[in-house]
Amino acid sequence: MSKQTKYIFVTGGVLSSLGKGIAAASIGTLLKNSGLKVSILKADPYINVDPGTMSPLEHGEVFVTDDGAETDLDLGHYERFLDESLSQNNNFTTGRVYSTVIEKERRGDYLGKTIQVIPHIVGEIVERIKRAGEGKDILIVEIGGTVGDIEGLPFLEAIRALRAEVGRKNGMFIHLTLIPYIKVAGELKTKPTQHSVGELRRIGISPDMIICRSEMPLNRELKDKIALSCGVEKNCVIESVDSASIYQIPLAFLKQDILTPIAEILELGELKPDMSVWDSLVKRIIAPTEATTIAFVGKYIDLKESYKSLTESIIHAGANLDARVNLKWVDSEKVDSENVDEILKDVDGVLVAGGFGERGVSGKILAIKYAREHDLPYLGICLGMQLALIEFARNVLKIEDANSVEFNKECKNPIIYLIDSFIDAHGKEQIRTHKSPLGGTMRLGAYECEIKPKTLLAQIYNNAKSVKERHRHRFEANPKYKPDYEKAGLIISGESKGLVEAIELKGHKFFIGVQCHPEFTSRLTKPNPTILGFISACIKNAK
Ligand code: GLN
Repeated sequence: MSKQTKYIFVTGGVLSSLGKGIAAASIGTLLKNSGLKVSILKADPYINVDPGTMSPLEHGEVFVTDDGAETDLDLGHYERFLDESLSQNNNFTTGRVYSTVIEKERRGDYLGKTIQVIPHIVGEIVERIKRAGEGKDILIVEIGGTVGDIEGLPFLEAIRALRAEVGRKNGMFIHLTLIPYIKVAGELKTKPTQHSVGELRRIGISPDMIICRSEMPLNRELKDKIALSCGVEKNCVIESVDSASIYQIPLAFLKQDILTPIAEILELGELKPDMSVWDSLVKRIIAPTEATTIAFVGKYIDLKESYKSLTESIIHAGANLDARVNLKWVDSEKVDSENVDEILKDVDGVLVAGGFGERGVSGKILAIKYAREHDLPYLGICLGMQLALIEFARNVLKIEDANSVEFNKECKNPIIYLIDSFIDAHGKEQIRTHKSPLGGTMRLGAYECEIKPKTLLAQIYNNAKSVKERHRHRFEANPKYKPDYEKAGLIISGESKGLVEAIELKGHKFFIGVQCHPEFTSRLTKPNPTILGFISACIKNAK
C-alpha cells in the first residue's frame, strides 16, 4: 500500500483577500525546504468551470500551468514559493465538480440513484483532493472564499469528512482570520475571529491552528486569549503582520516556530528547513544595491493583479541581480505621438505585456517604436511581440496596412493571423477558425521552442538548443513575412514547428519579443532567463 499523504487544510475567516494563498504557500515552502515532498491544491467554490473566461477586471490574472490549465492566480504563488510545476489537478471549482458528476449521471454510472450534494458532490471533492495528494508527503489544501459562504459548504464538509477518515495525525486544520485594529479604541479586536471559529465549529471543524492577519504584532496576552477562546494550543496562534515583501512571510512564520506544532500534530519528527538562499534573496528585495526604472505599458494598470506573475518575475530578477526595479506604470490608452517622448525619456527600458482586444494598442505600438528608435531595452510579451512585428512591418518595411486579424479580420497584410489547426499541450490536434468560441481555442500550456544559435535569445538561455515556456494566446505571427524581416534586420530567434516563438533586432542593445509568457515559470530562487536578461540590460542602461 502506498504511504498515506498528510493533509493541511487551510480555510479563511472574517473576510477575503487576507492572503490565504500566500500563507498556505509559505507553510509549503518551509515544509519543502525541510526535505518533504509537498504539493498544494486550491479548491474554489465559484461556479465557473475554470477562470479562463473570467475578466481580469474581476479575478486578476489567469495563471497557466505546463499542461495548459487556466487556473486561479494563487497557483502562481504556489509555484513561485514551492518551486514546483503544478497541473490541472491542483485547482478545481464547483463548476468543474458538478460537470464531472453530471457527466457521470448522464452516462448512467450511478445506476439510477438520486444524485445529491451529500454524498455525490462531496464525494467527488474528496476524490479530487486525494488525487492531487498522490505520491506526496504533504498536500496543502486551500479552500477558496470565506467560512460562512453558502457555496463553500460542500468543500468544508469534504475536508471534515476526509480528516475524519485519515485521523488527526494525517490531517490538520489551519484557519486564517483578521484581527482588526480599531483606531479610536487603540485596540486589536479578537471577536471576529471567535465568531468565525464558531461558524467553523458548527460545521464540525475545530481548527488546530489560527493564523492572525493584522496590521501590527499581537502581544502574548492577546495570543493567549485567542488560544483560549478558539480552543487551540498557545503555540498554535501565529501572527501574520503586513510586510514589505510577501517573500518575508515564510521567514516570519519560521521565526514564530510554526513548524513545531505542525510537526507534532502530523507526527513529522523534527523539521529543520534550510532557508539560507531564500533569506539572502529577501534581504536583496528589501535593501538592494542598484536601481533601474522600466516603463510597464499596459491597459489594466489600475488592476495590477492582472499582471501578477509578471510583476513577481521582475521582483525575482531584481533580487537575483541585487537591484530595485521601479515600475513606471504607463496606461497605453493615454499614450499618443505628442506625449510618447516625454513619457519614455527617463526610463531605462520598455515592457509591453500581453493583452487581448484593440483597446490601447496604438499607444503600445508608439512605445515600441520609441524603444526601437532610441536603442532602449525592450521586452514584448505575447501581444507585446505581435505588436513589435506590426510596428516593424509598418514603419520599417513600410507595409502601411500591416495588422493583426484580431483587430481587423479583413486586413490585407495579416502580420498576425489565425492558423487552422495546432497540436495542443496534450498532443491533440485542435481545429481553430474565425467562428471558434472564445473558450477553449487558445494555444495554452508549455511548448518547446527551438532557439537559433548565436542570437541574444541563445545567449540569455545559456546557449540551450531549446526551451519550454508557457503560452496563452489565440493568434500567431505569420511566417510569410520572415524573409522581409530578416533582410531588414529583424530575426526570428525562436521557432516551434514552424510557429514564430521569439524575435529580436540585430544591432540593438536588447530588443526581444516572445510569444510565450516567460513570467509563468519564474521563481524567486530561479528567475526566468528572458526576464532576467531584460532587467539586466535595463540595469546596464541605467548606469
Ligand atoms: N491577443 C493576442 C492573442 O490572442 C495576445 C494574447 C496575449 O497577449 N496573451 O494571440
